Amino acid sequence: MGLNESILTIKGVGAQVASKLNKLGIYTLKDMIEHYPRDYEDRRKITPIEAITMEEHHNILASVATPPQVTKKAGKIIVTFRVKDSTGSIYVTFYGQAYMKNNFQMGEKYLLYGKVRRKYAKIEMESPEYQKVTDTENLEKVAKITPIYPATSKLSQKVIRSLIEKSLALCVPFLEDCLPEAIKKQYDLVEKTEAVTSIHFPKNGTAFFEARKRLVFEELFMLQLSLYRLKADFAQKYEGISYHLPEDFKSFLEKLPFSLTAAQKRVVQEIVEDMKSNLAMNRLIQGDVGSGKTVIAAIALFMAVKNGYQTALMAPTEVLAVQHYGFLQSLMAPFNIEIALLTGSTTKKQRQEILEGIKQQKIHMVIGTHALIEEQVEIPKLGLVITDEQHRFGVRQRLKLTEKGMRPDVMVMTATPIPRTLALILYGDMDISIIDELPPGRVPIQTNGVESSYHTRIYRFIEKQLLEGRQCYIICPMVEESENGGELQNVLEYTAELKADVFSSFTVEYLHGKMKPKEKNEVMRRFSSGEIQILVSTTVVEVGVNVPNATVMLIENAERFGLAQLHQLRGRVGRGVHKSYCILVSDSKNKVTQKRLKIMEESTDGFVIAETDLKLRGPGEFFGTRQHGLPEMKIANLYTDAKVLKEVQYCVKNILHQDPLLKKSDYRELVKEIQELAAKEVLHRAL
Ligand code: ADP
Ligand code: MG
Repeated sequence: MGLNESILTIKGVGAQVASKLNKLGIYTLKDMIEHYPRDYEDRRKITPIEAITMEEHHNILASVATPPQVTKKAGKIIVTFRVKDSTGSIYVTFYGQAYMKNNFQMGEKYLLYGKVRRKYAKIEMESPEYQKVTDTENLEKVAKITPIYPATSKLSQKVIRSLIEKSLALCVPFLEDCLPEAIKKQYDLVEKTEAVTSIHFPKNGTAFFEARKRLVFEELFMLQLSLYRLKADFAQKYEGISYHLPEDFKSFLEKLPFSLTAAQKRVVQEIVEDMKSNLAMNRLIQGDVGSGKTVIAAIALFMAVKNGYQTALMAPTEVLAVQHYGFLQSLMAPFNIEIALLTGSTTKKQRQEILEGIKQQKIHMVIGTHALIEEQVEIPKLGLVITDEQHRFGVRQRLKLTEKGMRPDVMVMTATPIPRTLALILYGDMDISIIDELPPGRVPIQTNGVESSYHTRIYRFIEKQLLEGRQCYIICPMVEESENGGELQNVLEYTAELKADVFSSFTVEYLHGKMKPKEKNEVMRRFSSGEIQILVSTTVVEVGVNVPNATVMLIENAERFGLAQLHQLRGRVGRGVHKSYCILVSDSKNKVTQKRLKIMEESTDGFVIAETDLKLRGPGEFFGTRQHGLPEMKIANLYTDAKVLKEVQYCVKNILHQDPLLKKSDYRELVKEIQELAAKEVLHRAL
C-alpha cells in the first residue's frame, strides 16, 4: 500500500470509473488527493424556505411532507414531492431517476442543496444533492464547507467527493512530509497531513487558508528547487570559448539587407561582449513580434563560424526552420559558410550526408527542428547554440542540444513578454537582452473587431488588397468540422467554400498541423513566393513566419484564441512597407471577451496586451503551459502567488548555498520527492 497505488484499490472504483478518472489525469491515489477543489460552497449556511427569492443554488434543511410521486412526462420519469421547514414548503423534483422514490421517507429530515426554479406558481428544487439528517451531531457533519472539484460531465461532484474521502483515509498513514522542520517553522506552515485534509474539507476559513498556504509554498518550493538543481551545471558561469571579432565582421554587417535599429545594435553589442569574454554566454533575447530577432541570431552565428566553430539554430516548427534556413543561406553564401537544414522530413540519404558533413566539420551551421537533438547528431566543434521561440521548448530540450558541444555559448530568443518574477523561474540563470523597438517604416497595423454579419464587406476588402498585389491569411480554430454542428469555422470547409465562390479567381490554399511536413513546406513556399494569395490556416502560422507581402490577417471565431496568441497571429502581418490590417471576427456577447478584443484594437504592444489580459482573466489562460513553457501548477498561481514565490526563491537559494547537494539528513524526504518529480513525464515536458 502506498500513494502510488492505482485508484483501482479504492473501494467502489472499477474499470469504468477508473477510465473516467483517467480523463481528469487521475491514475494513482496521490493524483486523487492532489485533485484539489476548484471552489467551495459554504453549506453551513442554511436558507429558510421563505427566504428563497432568487433562482439560484440554495441549501435547505427540510422534512418530507408528501409521499414521493412517480409520473411520466413525454416518456421521462419524474419523481416529485414536497418538503417543508418551519417557514414554508417547496417542491423537490428528480428527472429520469425512478429509484429516488425510495430514497426519501415521509417525515424524515434532509439537507438539500440544489438550484431553485420558479415554475408558474410553484417553486421547485431540481435534482438536489441530499443527505439525511438524524440529529444535530449528524447535521454538523453534513452541513459543512463543501469542495467543488474540476469534473467531467460523467462524474458527479458527489462521487468525486466520496472518492476523495476514501483516498484520504487510505493515504494519510503514508503521507511523508517533504518540507524540512526548520522551514515549516520559519515560514509558519502547517503539517502535510493537516494541509491535505483541510484543503479538501476545511472546517472553517482559517483552516483553508493555512492549508492552501502550506501547499502553495510546497509546490513552488519543489518546482524552484528542481529547476535550480536541473540548471545547476548550466547556471554556473563556466569557462567557455573566448571569441574574437572576425576580420570580415564589418563587411558582413554592411551586406545585411537593412541597417540595424538602435535596439538591435545594443543587443548585438551585448552579445559580442559575451562572446568575447572567456565565460560562456547564457543569454535570453526578448523582443516583441517583428522586432527583428533573426538577424541578431545571424550575426552571432556568423561570428562563431568565423572563429572556426560549428553552430546550431533550433526552431519549434519545420516551416520556421525552412524560413530561417533560406534567410541565413542568403546572408552566409558570400562568406563561404556551409549551412544545412535538418528536420523531420529530411530524407534518410540527405540526413546521412548531412550528419557526415557535420562530423567532418564541412558543415558549419545547422538549422533545424527537434530533429537536431537526436542522439545521432554529432557536432564535434559546437561553439554556439541558439533556440528560437524558446517558449515552445523546454529547458531539457535546450540542454540536450547544449550538451552536444563542449560548453558552447547559448542564446535563446522569445517573443513572449514575461513579468519579472516569472522570468526568474524560467530564466533565473540567464542574462536578458531586450529589443524594445520595431524596425523603421512599419505602418501600424489597423485592428478591427467585427461580427460575422460583416463577411461580405470583409471579403470585398480582401479582394481589393489582393488586386493590389497583396496576400492574406485567414485563421480558423478547427481543422475539420466540429462535433457540435459546425459553429466554429474549419479550415477544410472554409477553403472549399472560398475556392468555389467569392475567391474563385484567386489562389486559395490551406495549411494545418495534421498535414505532412512536406506538404506544409510546399504550401508555405508557395505562399512566400506569392503564388498562393489566400492562406487559410490553423494557428500553425502563429510562430515566426515571415511573409512581408501579406497585409491582411483575418481571424474567425477570435474569442477562441488567447490574447498572446492573437498578438502572435497579428504579428504575421505588418512586416513590410504596406499598411496591414487585422480583422477579428466574433459574435461572442461575453463581456470579458469583448473587452479582450477591444484591447487588441487599442494596443499593439505585447507587454500591454499581456498585462491587460492578466487583469481580465487571471494568469490561468495567458500563462498557459503552451505559451510559456511554464509547468502547470496544481494549486499555486504563478501570478497571484508572486509573493510566496519570492519567499520561496530566497529560501531555496539559501538552502542550496549552504548545502548544494542537499546532504543534510533533514533533506532526505525532499531529495526523494525531487527525484520522483524528475522522473515524471509530465515534468519532463514542463521543464
Ligand atoms: P521576429 O523578432 O518576430 O523574429 P524577424 O526577425 O522575423 O522578427 O523580423 C521581422 C521582419 O523585419 C523581417 O522581414 C526582417 O527582415 C525585418 N527586419 C529586421 N530588422 C530590420 C531592420 N533593422 N530594418 C528593417 N527591417 C528589419
Ligand atoms: Mg522570429
